[in-house]
Amino acid sequence: MTLKEFLIDASWSLFLDRDGVINKRIIDGYVTRPDEFVFLPGVPRAVQILSGLFGRVFIVTNQQGIGKALMTENDLQSVHDKMIRKLENQGAQIKAVYFSPYLEQDKHITRKPNSGMALKAKEEFPELDFMKSVMVGDTENDIEFGKRLGMITVFIGHKEQFDNFEPDFIFESLLAFATNIKA
Ligand SMILES: [Mg+2]
Repeated sequence: MTLKEFLIDASWSLFLDRDGVINKRIIDGYVTRPDEFVFLPGVPRAVQILSGLFGRVFIVTNQQGIGKALMTENDLQSVHDKMIRKLENQGAQIKAVYFSPYLEQDKHITRKPNSGMALKAKEEFPELDFMKSVMVGDTENDIEFGKRLGMITVFIGHKEQFDNFEPDFIFESLLAFATNIKA
C-alpha cells in the first residue's frame, strides 16, 4: 500500500518527533539553547506542505536533558519559540508541542514509547483520531509509540534492520515524506 491510498485529508493528524526529524540531532547531547537548534534541510517547506494536508500537526519530543538538569523547561521553551516562529514564517502550522522531561529509566507515562503525550493531545483536541494519524520519527521508540496507538508509522533515516518494530514506510527525510504524500 502507498501513502496516497490512505487519502489523507484534514480529518487526519500528524505527530512529528523533533530531534533527527525536524532538527539536527546532537549526538550524546541535547539542544539546550536556540543557537544549537538547526533545521534539517527542507524541513520548514516540508512542514508547510504537511500542515496544509493534515488537519493538525503535533510535535512529541522526549527531552530528558531536563531530567538530567542539563537544561531547564525555560531553555526548552526558548528553543521551541524559535522553532515555531521560523516554521510559522514559512506558512507552517504546529498545533501543539508536547515534551517529556523525564529520564529514560523513569519509564514515565509521557516518555515515548509510552502513550502519554498522544493522550494529552487527545484531551486537548478531542476530534483527534489515532486511527487516522501518522507518527514520524527516527528511532524505534517513535515507531513503537505510533504502533501502540494504532497509527501509521514513518521512519526517517536509512536503517535497514529493525529489532522489534517495523515501520510502515521509510523515507530519507521529512521533505521526501512530504513530497511523496503530496505527489
Ligand atoms: Mg528523534
